[in-house]
Amino acid sequence: MAGKTIVRCSAGHLFTATWIPLIGIKSIRLTPSRRYARCPVERHWGMVTKTDSMNLSQAELASAQAHDAGLQ
Ligand SMILES: [Zn+2]
Repeated sequence: MAGKTIVRCSAGHLFTATWIPLIGIKSIRLTPSRRYARCPVERHWGMVTKTDSMNLSQAELASAQAHDAGLQ
């Protein structure tokens, strides 16, 4: 399943990514839910962790959906 996933970078930015299971296209896969990838919010590299959208506020969801990292 490769749908849009909401992820959070090490600096706390939220964005969406198309999180491909098992392989990283433009990222380095560390564990199933953690990757080293480029954050589209401030264009820096960092640890990116999958986030459960159930735990996010409407404002956080809107902020995440304003940025998309594309295939990860
Ligand atoms: Zn960031």
